[in-house]
Parts: sequence; structure tokens; C-alpha cells
Amino acid sequence: MEPEALNDLRFVGYRRRLIEEIRSHGIEDLEILQLFDRVPRHLFVPEGVRVRAYEDAPLPIGYGQTVSKPSLQALLLQILRPGSRDRVLEIGTGSGFLTALLALTSERVFSVERVRELSTRARSALDSLAISNVALMVGDGSIGWRKFAPYQVITVSAASPSIPQALLDQLADGGRLLIPVGTRKAQELILVRREGKELVRETLRDRCTFVPLLGQYGWSDEAGPGSDRPS
Ligand code: SAH
Repeated sequence: MEPEALNDLRFVGYRRRLIEEIRSHGIEDLEILQLFDRVPRHLFVPEGVRVRAYEDAPLPIGYGQTVSKPSLQALLLQILRPGSRDRVLEIGTGSGFLTALLALTSERVFSVERVRELSTRARSALDSLAISNVALMVGDGSIGWRKFAPYQVITVSAASPSIPQALLDQLADGGRLLIPVGTRKAQELILVRREGKELVRETLRDRCTFVPLLGQYGWSDEAGPGSDRPS
């Protein structure tokens, strides 16, 4: 991607408007708002929906998956606040957009995606921005990525029937884990903080809807939409 494409004038105005929209959701932290200027969302969505890249809306990214709404991702960043020396584990790379936002605020991001094609596309979008502190893996993220644990921040972008024990085991002391937990149709957004051996759990939102986490600690692949049967 040519550097000028990043500042494609067709998108600059839209981006400013999106940042205002995110601000209207109560995100005042300048560092977080600026991230949405530094990471052009249109590079992370397929051609067909590119004109809508700066709407504050989830968008389809193929393979039945969606990139989340920017204001929700800004809220996640505000809650998780990755620091420049933090290692972050992301489950569900998807488009790679949140991966990029996390990469710019942390030491290194380890991101797991089960759909190989999405992981490949995310890698080329990250490369186009010369973001190099990201390790991607194709596989079942419901079991985490033990090799690089513990993580100060773990974020799960897909809905789980419960909090996978494997992820709790990979959370560093003082670390934060954010995960939507519930049925396939509706979830609560849960924040877990590890304080030594203690896990402190807080519900941040009563109702949200994420695509299902499939895999060992998630839902079984065969369960049809709307099924509440965990694997
Ligand atoms: N944060 C992403 C969200 C993508 S949607 C973005 O902004 O684009 C959630 C993603 O989780 C999907 O791409 C889906 O394929 C992936 N996913 C679902 N179950 C998974 C699992 N067990 N391991 C890894 N990725 C999974």
C-alpha cells in the first residue's frame, strides 16, 4: 500500500466525523481518539463495504464474521488500557483492526484467529501500516496461546458460553481479561482482574451481541445459529 493511500483524502473527513462520534460516546482520552486517525479502518474492511468504513457500525468482513463497532472498540481500549510494556493476547483477529489499535498502545500483540483467510488479510493490512509488533496464529483461541503467557491484557472478540479456564490461567498478576459471556444470541461483557490468586469479576454491560467463539472452550461448530448448546 502506498503511503499516500493511508491519507486518501476521500476518507480524512469521514475519519474526523467518526472520531467526533466516538467522543460523543464518552471517550475523552485523546490518545485513544488519535488511534482512530492513525489506523485507517478502510484498509481493514473488504472492498464492497469500504465506503461505509467510517460509520460507527459493525461491518461484514466475510466468512460470516464482522468487524465490531468503532465506539465499542474505543470503549474496550479505555477499559483495558494496555501499557507500552504490556503483552496483549487477542482472541479473534478478524479484520485485524483492533489488533492494530492494540499494537500501537502495547509492547506486543499475540492474536489468534480460526479462519486462515482472515488472518492472512489482517497480516497484509498490518504490513501496509508497517505495524510489526504483532504475532498472528491460526487456530483455536479458546485455549489461548500458552507459549507467550502470561499476558497483562486478554481480549476476546467472540461470545463464549463461559470464561475459558485456559485464558484465566494465562492472565498475569494485575492483568485484565475482557470477554462477552452468555448465549449465542446475547451476552454480558465481563471484565476479570487478577489480583494474585484472586479473580475479581465485574459486569460492564448487561447486553451485547458478538459472533460465537467456536472451539474447545467455546461453542461447537455444528450448533446452528441461535443454539445455546456449548461444545
Ligand atoms: N476484533 C475483530 C472481531 C472479529 S469477529 C475485528 O475487529 O475485526 C470475531 C472473530 O473471532 C471472527 O473472525 C471469528 O472467526 C473468530 N473466532 C471465533 N472463534 C474463534 C476461536 N476459537 N479462536 C480464534 N478465533 C475465533
